[in-house]
Amino acid sequence: MSEKHCSFCGRPESMVDMLISGVDGYICNDCARQAYEITRAEFQNTHDDGFVSNLDELKKPKDIFAYLNQYVIGQDEAKKTLAVAVYNHYKRLLQQDTKDDVEIEKSNVIMIGETGTGKTLMARTIAKMLDVPFAIVDATVLTQAGYVGEDVETILTRLLQAADYDVAKAERGIVFIDEIDKIARKGDNPSITRDVSGEGVQQALLKLLEGTTVNVPPQGGRKHPNQEFIKVNTQNILFIAGGAFAGIDKIISKRINMKPLGYQAQKQDHIDEDNILRYAIPTDLRKYGLIPEIIGRLPVLTYLNSLDKETLKRILTEPKNALIKQYKKLFEMDGIQLVVKEEALDYIVDKAIEYKLGARGLRSLVEATLKDDMFTLPGTRRRKLVVDKKYVEQKLSQTLIDKIRKAS
Ligand code: ADP
Repeated sequence: MSEKHCSFCGRPESMVDMLISGVDGYICNDCARQAYEITRAEFQNTHDDGFVSNLDELKKPKDIFAYLNQYVIGQDEAKKTLAVAVYNHYKRLLQQDTKDDVEIEKSNVIMIGETGTGKTLMARTIAKMLDVPFAIVDATVLTQAGYVGEDVETILTRLLQAADYDVAKAERGIVFIDEIDKIARKGDNPSITRDVSGEGVQQALLKLLEGTTVNVPPQGGRKHPNQEFIKVNTQNILFIAGGAFAGIDKIISKRINMKPLGYQAQKQDHIDEDNILRYAIPTDLRKYGLIPEIIGRLPVLTYLNSLDKETLKRILTEPKNALIKQYKKLFEMDGIQLVVKEEALDYIVDKAIEYKLGARGLRSLVEATLKDDMFTLPGTRRRKLVVDKKYVEQKLSQTLIDKIRKAS
């Protein structure tokens, strides 16, 4: 019988590593790979071009909200605001193709809320849902041109890297600017000790936020004359800024309490003192030290609540990739059933609150709790591990907690 040949390149079986048979022919491993590359490239093209080509294709705000719910616990107000902002952002992109007099402005977002309450998680989750490039930048490393630090253009370097240098893709991405509060104007915020004026950085950010074409150094770092730049248009990039704005609660409270007497008397009963951030308005950001132009370019303002015990407990168990689910999975792979009792969860959450470890500390606490058994149990006959309060108490010694505190 004659030797089989690849139906695409014609090479015989003896000259290829592998030949896969089909109904009426064969394909070798090289041709299969090439075919894959071609389809992938083709798919990417149509994906870019056909990106939200009509309103029906757009995820509706309620869908975005539902998606966020799978990963982010609580923070409903921020979720709703973000869902609408993202929906409007992509509607705006659609509208650009039509000749219409009404120009929809960018809906860049600013989120205020303590650190570790889910700001980054929310932005990242949205980007994942939309399957667009996502970059996180820390505003504190940015400096105005000419100073030591990173130029604001490097924000786009990160986005380009996240997009594998596909400029068209990057131009539809999402950038999360963390710690935006740290570039507040010095005069208004005595806690800032930077020697470079935050206002200069704010000024530099302006053009990026509003939409312009920027020369981006592909490898980041400082600009130098001989470097080749990549042109990136920021018009369709969604910017989400976040910050803890420590102390802004006082500004808000003061403003609320300064309202004319009649208004105050009427409203004060309803003021939720524990979540004062919910009353934030752009003027408060201005008092805090953001320049009006920046505030104008981050027109969607929302807040995140601090995480109470109940929320922290839910974070442990409910999200799609909740910590407890992850550890259950890890044990399950060794054929061990992990059962974490309610009282154990309560204890872990109490410690997280007591030592102000927040949601970020939960992982370290759970890891420290289970580490010994993750070491000893695999390979044994144990098929079940029940974790109760006493168990966690034993494992989370004071020294261990102190260690976690120092690390976080
Ligand atoms: P922020 O950006 O507000 O400082 P992050 O989004 O980085 O905080 O949150 C830190 C971690 O804490 C997240 O990766 C996530 O594991 C957890 N986390 C915080 N808030 C929530 C939340 N609301 N729902 C689920 N997980 C959360």
